[in-house]
Parts: sequence; C-alpha cells; structure tokens
Amino acid sequence: MKRRVLMAAACLLVGCSSPDEAADTGDTLAAGTSSSTSSSSSTTSSTSTTTTTTIPPTTTTTPAPQFLGEEEIGTTVEGRPITAFHRGTPGGVVILVVGVIHGNEDDGLAIIEQLRTMPMPEGYDLWLMPAINPDGYANQARGNSNGVDLNRNFPHDWTPIAEPGEWEYSGTEGASEPETQAFIDFANRVNPALTIWYHQDLHTVSPSSGRDGPLRRHYAERTGLDHTSITGGTYTGVAATWVRRAVPRAMSFIVELGPTLSAEEAVLHATVVLEVAQMVEAS
Ligand SMILES: [Zn+2]
Repeated sequence: MKRRVLMAAACLLVGCSSPDEAADTGDTLAAGTSSSTSSSSSTTSSTSTTTTTTIPPTTTTTPAPQFLGEEEIGTTVEGRPITAFHRGTPGGVVILVVGVIHGNEDDGLAIIEQLRTMPMPEGYDLWLMPAINPDGYANQARGNSNGVDLNRNFPHDWTPIAEPGEWEYSGTEGASEPETQAFIDFANRVNPALTIWYHQDLHTVSPSSGRDGPLRRHYAERTGLDHTSITGGTYTGVAATWVRRAVPRAMSFIVELGPTLSAEEAVLHATVVLEVAQMVEAS
C-alpha cells in the first residue's frame, strides 16, 4: 500500500498524462490489461473498432471534470516546482487543500489524488497543492532542503526555534524559505476561504471555538479521527495560523491522519473535504 501511494504521489508531483490510470498502477490495472488481452484474442475484429470509439460526454468516469489547469506557484530550494491544480467553478468559494508540508507525512497525497478527479458540486473553486515541500517529500524528510520545518517558518508569531536540521528548526527568520514565500504569494492572490493541511500521525483534528469549529467537528466525526487538541511542540510560525491571520475571513485547519491511510479512507476524506467546503458559506 505504501508503494502504491508513493507511485501515485510521484505522479502527482511530476505530472502524468493520465491520473486515473496512474492511480491504478497496482493490481487493478494489471487485471484490466490481462482481461482485455484475452478478449481481443478471441474476437480480433473488435479490437480495431474499439480504438476509435469516443467516450460519451455523459459518462461518470470522465477524468478531472471541471479541470481549470495547473500552476507552478514557485520552486523549492533544490529547484523542484511547487504545483497547484485548479478545478471547479471560477469565482466560487475558494478552497485550498495542501497534501504535504512535512515531507515524511505524505498520505495526504492520496486524498489530493481523489479530489483531482471525483465529482464535485458547483460553486466551489478548488485548488489542490500536492506538496508545499516537494524536496522534503523526495528526501522523505520533515523539513525542506535547508533543514527548516516549514510549519514553523511562517511570519505570524515567528520565533527562532532549535538549530538547522532539528525537527522544529524554524529558519533564520519568518518566511526565510522559498517554499514559504511561494505559498504566501499564492494565498494572498487566491484568498482561500478554507485551507486544509494534512499531517501525520496524531489521528486528530483539534477543536476550535472559532468560525471553523463546526467544520473541524464535522471532519473528525465523519472520518473517525479524534477531536482533541495537539500538544507537545512549539507552535509558532505555523502555516494554518498564518492563513487565519493574514487572509481576510479565512478558515484554516490541520488534519492529523493516522500512521496509514487506506484507499477507502482516502475516498472518505476527499468526500468530507467537499462536505466541509459546503459548510463554509454558512459559517
Ligand atoms: Zn506534521
């Protein structure tokens, strides 16, 4: 399962021509290939006709409906692109989902992958960022390639923490890192009403008494995560907090997944993202 997630994730980060097929690089695709081979050998004439068949526009399996494009919003320390995919209704409620900020906490990529292709309601302007930290993902490290914990590097309540390479090292100053700067420019441009960030593996969504409190509670209840506060670190320069303070009327919260995420759970989480998106306007 881990390998399958990583293969699909790599596809998300570097781009693939067919995300649907890339998601099924494992058993499903192999089974489909063998069955089509056996059917074409028994009826050779059907093979030539099926290759010219056009998929009807009414099909429910059309990949990436409402796809609006993809953008490189910046580059990492090592020069990797930071990519965001755009779907939905332009001018609708802007929702931003970030799959990976700590590079070795990457199961959120499977949720992003679902959100790229699943049906979504009208009226939502969805931005999907597989990783704000592609270098950390590539290196399977928490921080970026300067050893900075990007989730301590944002310029709200930024404080110096630890030394380079230590797990909460916050950088030389707020927004010292190119990944942080790229995200700030992007968020200030698209003004997300809701931003969701995936982490692992504390298995919780922390409660809030603010406007996003009901969304957080709904997310936890629907996905079976706990609904308890996160403790044990120094929480300055946190990305979700910066969004709440810097983007007008923005809501933003962290989802701490468990240590693993099944394919079924990824579908559930993506579904719940769209559910909480529909709670934004009422909040
Ligand atoms: Zn984390």
